[in-house]
Amino acid sequence: MTVSYDYLIIGGGMVADAAAKGIRERDPDGTIGILGEESTAPFPRPALSKKLWTDSGFTEDDAALGTVDETGATLHLGARADTIDRRTRTVTTSAGDSYGYGRLLIATGGHPRQIAALPPSARVIYFRTLEHYRRLRATVADHPHVAVVGGGYIGTEIAAALVQNGCSVTLVHPEEVLGSRSFPPVISEEIAAMFTKAGVRVRGGARVVGGTTSSTGVRLELSDGTTVSADYAVIGLGIEPAGTLARTAGLETSSDGGIVVDEHLATADPDVLAAGDVAQYPDRILGRQRVEHVDNATEMGATAGRILAGSDETYDHTPFFYSDLFDAWYEAVGTLDASLRTVVVEKGDGGRVVYYLRDEEVVGVLMWKVADGVEPARAVLAARTVPGSFDDLI
Ligand SMILES: Cc1cc2nc3c(=O)[nH]c(=O)nc-3n(C[C@H](O)[C@H](O)[C@H](O)COP(=O)(O)OP(=O)(O)OC[C@H]3O[C@@H](n4cnc5c(N)ncnc54)[C@H](O)[C@@H]3O)c2cc1C
Repeated sequence: MTVSYDYLIIGGGMVADAAAKGIRERDPDGTIGILGEESTAPFPRPALSKKLWTDSGFTEDDAALGTVDETGATLHLGARADTIDRRTRTVTTSAGDSYGYGRLLIATGGHPRQIAALPPSARVIYFRTLEHYRRLRATVADHPHVAVVGGGYIGTEIAAALVQNGCSVTLVHPEEVLGSRSFPPVISEEIAAMFTKAGVRVRGGARVVGGTTSSTGVRLELSDGTTVSADYAVIGLGIEPAGTLARTAGLETSSDGGIVVDEHLATADPDVLAAGDVAQYPDRILGRQRVEHVDNATEMGATAGRILAGSDETYDHTPFFYSDLFDAWYEAVGTLDASLRTVVVEKGDGGRVVYYLRDEEVVGVLMWKVADGVEPARAVLAARTVPGSFDDLI
């Protein structure tokens, strides 16, 4: 038997939550179904590497999004969509269940990039989900030695979280200085010093090229010929966007596997939208982008929900992103690529604004410990030139 919904959302993540709430802004009654392959309801992923570790008074219940309670959506957990038949408007799961739809949103995000020699196991966690958080959290009381692999925001945040919770941490990353791929030296050196000061053993300039897992631990083989033995490995090497489902349904995907959508977040099929980490969309300021950040997920998800329910709006929001590391924090808009020319402006109290220029045009703005900079940064990116004074814009 096929269950049908007016609105069907594939993916039970942050976009699904925002989209269901967006639908309800315009349609109080239409039925909403969500197919999520994870075993838990949509959850705010940033909390998994930040507040749940660093604020002892903050619980999973405090973070909960309340998707079902607030929207009345029906959540099918452990339901992995395998095929979309656009002719019959049916989605079939790996368990063989079929779901009909009036309009469909693909919000499948992405799956963590894996190291072939180290498949996920009880000792190896490719960190992304609430279940991963719960498993890792359960180990902390034993103060294990954890090898964290990856110097991006997941790796750095988890390494900081674990060391602050009494674990022994080795952080393996490929850059010479932690953060130097994204940040100019004055900031990456500050980041590296924070980790060392906190007691994290930082192994820079090395990639994991192999490894073995046993029932008691892991052994990582590094590109510099050394090894790291630990009780657990937590790996954060970015994601592969989950666009295969759309491609096999005959929809266009980008070279990196994202799903190509227009300014109304629609694929070539007007009744099939995509949003969030998986969607490659035309940003009003930045041009075609695929953004793997929460502000994009919530804003694009809400917009997609309203569009599914009949709004003719376009997605005009240029997303920002952020991270917290020990007492430091930053917000940014656009591309943070330290191989570009950067202009660093000191703001006092350790705060800095960094402009990233390609062909003398600003393509990214970083606010390092500078508050209220997101709107000004968007204005700078729209104008494409370094302003005389950022202060005038705030
Ligand atoms: C630990 C962590 C910390 C983060 N911190 C920050 C931060 O500080 N700042 C920031 O800007 N961003 C952060 N992010 C990124 C942010 O959480 C993501 O951009 C956001 O979750 C994307 O939402 P999404 O719905 O597109 O994807 P997701 O939230 O990943 O949801 C996609 C869901 O679809 C499911 N799915 C995939 N394929 C199928 C299928 N075929 N059938 C059914 N379900 C499927 C997946 O299992 C997943 O549950 C963080 C991410 C993580 C993992």
